[in-house]
Amino acid sequence: MTKSIVDHNDVLSLTEQELGDLLESLGAPRFRGRQLFEWLWRHDAKSYEEIQVWPRELRERLQGSYPISRLSLVQSQVATDGTTKLLLAMKDGQRVETVLLPHRYGYSVCVSSQVGCAMGCKFCASGLKGRVRQLTAGEMADQVAYGNLVLHERSSKISRIDVMGIGEPMDNFANLMRFLELVHAPAGLNLSYRHITVSTSGLVPAMQKLADSGKPVTLAVSLHAPNDALRLKLMPVNRAYPLGQLIPMCRYYAERTGRRVTFEYLLLDGVNDGEEQAHELAQLVRGFPNHVNLIPWNPVDEHPFQPSPKARVRRFQSIVQEYGISCTIRRELGQEIDAACGQLRLREEEPVSP
Ligand code: SAH
Ligand code: SF4
Repeated sequence: MTKSIVDHNDVLSLTEQELGDLLESLGAPRFRGRQLFEWLWRHDAKSYEEIQVWPRELRERLQGSYPISRLSLVQSQVATDGTTKLLLAMKDGQRVETVLLPHRYGYSVCVSSQVGCAMGCKFCASGLKGRVRQLTAGEMADQVAYGNLVLHERSSKISRIDVMGIGEPMDNFANLMRFLELVHAPAGLNLSYRHITVSTSGLVPAMQKLADSGKPVTLAVSLHAPNDALRLKLMPVNRAYPLGQLIPMCRYYAERTGRRVTFEYLLLDGVNDGEEQAHELAQLVRGFPNHVNLIPWNPVDEHPFQPSPKARVRRFQSIVQEYGISCTIRRELGQEIDAACGQLRLREEEPVSP
C-alpha cells in the first residue's frame, strides 16, 4: 500500500492496523485500534465522546488531534422507485454525490471517487468543470457508511458497491486501493470484493495494477465505441490508451482474476448505435469472459447528443448476442431526480472556501 498519500491524522482513512499503530504511539494498548475501527465503521461514531468505555483522557487527546470528520448531509432526493441521491459535504466544504439504488437483493451504492473529473468525456456531466480534487479513502468509504445510515430507516442496507459516481477512480489509484481495503475489512463494513465493481474509462497501467492487487473486484470498462476513430471523438483518454492496449488489458484482467469483465456501452442516436457498430463491437470483445451492458444515454443539456430510440437499442443488443456474447440493457432508475450515471453534478451553489 502507498503510505505517503494518507494523512495520518485522518482516522477515517486508516486501516485497523494503522489505528493500532496510532493508539500504541499514544501509549494506549494496541487492541484499541481494532475497537476504534469498529466504532468508526460499525457504530458510525462521530466523536470519541461516544466511546464511553474508554478512559476520558485518551478520548480527549484523540478528539483534539485526530477529529473524526464524517460527511454531513446537505440535501437528499428520493425518487418514486426508491433511488436516493445524497449530496454530502466534506470537511473543506467541497461536496460529493452518492446514489443509493434499489434492487431485488437490497441496495447498491454508487460511490464518487473525485470532485469533478479530468477525463473530459464528451457525453458526461461529471467532467464539465474538470477535476477539483481527489477524495480520500475515508471520504469514499464514508459514502457507503452514510448510505447505510439512510437505509437503516428502510430496514435495508448496502450489499454492493459500484465505484461509478463522479470521477475516474483509476486516476485516484492509491486512495481507491485503500478504500477497497477499508470497506472489505471484516471488523468494519465487511463487503466482499466480489460485490464491488470499479468502473474506468480505460487507464491501462492502473488496470494492470488492479489486476495484480489481489483484490478480485469486478472491472467495468467504459467502451462506448467499437473503433479508435470514434472512441477518440467521444473519449480523449483513447489517445493515450487506444483499443489495441485497452482490450488486451481487459483480457489480462479476466485471466488474472478469474472475473468476467463488464463493458459499458452507452448508446447515442446516430453516433455509435448502428448495426455495423454492433457487429464491430462484438468482434472486438469476443474471445474472453465478458459481458456487455448497454446504457441508455441520460441527457445532459451541455452535450449535443440524443439517446437512441428503444427499438434501436434492442436491435443492437440482439446483434451482439448473435455472437454468443452476454449483453443486457441497463435498467433506468431514478430518472426524475437526475440520479443516473453520468448525470451527477453539483447543481448547488459553489462551496464556500474553508
Ligand atoms: N469514470 C469512470 C466511472 C464513472 S462514470 C468511467 O468513466 O467509467 C460511470 C459510467 O457512466 C461510465 O460508463 C460513463 O461512461 C457513464 N456515463 C457518463 N455519462 C453518461 C450519461 N450522460 N448517460 C449515461 N451514462 C453515462
Ligand atoms: Fe470522467 Fe467517467 Fe465522466 Fe469520463 S465518463 S468524464 S471518465 S466520470
